Amino acid sequence: MPVTEPTAVRRSLLAWLETDLGFGLEEIRRLDPIRPATSTEPAPRADATPAPPPPRAAEPPSPRTPPAPDPAETARTSSPAAAPARASGFRPRVGPLAERLGSPEKRAALDTLDAEVAGCTLCKLSRGRTLAVPGEGNVDADLMFVGEGPGADEDRSGRPFVGRAGELLTKIVEAMGFSRETVFIANIVKCRPPGNRDPEPDETASCFPFLERQLEIVEPKVICTLGLPATRKLLDIRGGISAVRGRKFAFRGIPLIPTFHPAYLLRNPAGKKQVWSDVQTVARLVEERGGVVPFPERLARNTGGAAGGA
Ligand code: SF4
Repeated sequence: MPVTEPTAVRRSLLAWLETDLGFGLEEIRRLDPIRPATSTEPAPRADATPAPPPPRAAEPPSPRTPPAPDPAETARTSSPAAAPARASGFRPRVGPLAERLGSPEKRAALDTLDAEVAGCTLCKLSRGRTLAVPGEGNVDADLMFVGEGPGADEDRSGRPFVGRAGELLTKIVEAMGFSRETVFIANIVKCRPPGNRDPEPDETASCFPFLERQLEIVEPKVICTLGLPATRKLLDIRGGISAVRGRKFAFRGIPLIPTFHPAYLLRNPAGKKQVWSDVQTVARLVEERGGVVPFPERLARNTGGAAGGA
């Protein structure tokens, strides 16, 4: 029978609420109004690649051309502007690919991806490269490092992080208790930007699906981004790298901790202390999530030495 009297409506509503409370529901949220469907709106695809974010007008320079330590930026570390970091608009897929693949299949999937990258001409960076640099490492790595793009040494060799900054990253990795063979190292663009400039938004948008696939295949337990461009590509953040480094975020449910790029440390060795603090957090997080730190005694030995082996 339709309820029309105000008192009857109130009684009916109270009974309804009592039922919900009995099921443990303690909160009622107001829903957004339902929009009528229009024939011009296609249904969202589960595997659709999201539109790239609009270019930012005034991004701070990347660690490749790092600014002098900025007291104002350091002060922003605790400012509200740095706080609302959240995962960007990428939609999780239905179950991680890695759950369905053994190591040989994962290796084969990465080999296929590497071959695609080697012949890729999706963006203008293909025109200036010597070799594409897809990334490398353990297909079952618990830890993945993500930088911004190859430099001159990487462009010549086809391998990520092999120049001076790469040697420093290797030392950091080993001081953490890992080795390069036990982690995975990749970049957000796979071809060298000319003059080591930052990758441009159209380039990162074209290349990002390769990194997405690497993350799906390897399915690391923890991601460590190196520098601001990589961090901003994976997270929707405001503020500089100083404001977010060492803090725990997530990308598609995978814990993510940003830190400075090793190239920045070459110019600003004082930052090693902060990086050492950040990567200790990363190593602990890998262990907490059931991952393996192959040489825990190295981490123990280096803990307490401010900059560790970095
Ligand atoms: S940077 Fe990425 S998208 Fe651009 S050509 Fe190289 S592999 Fe392709």
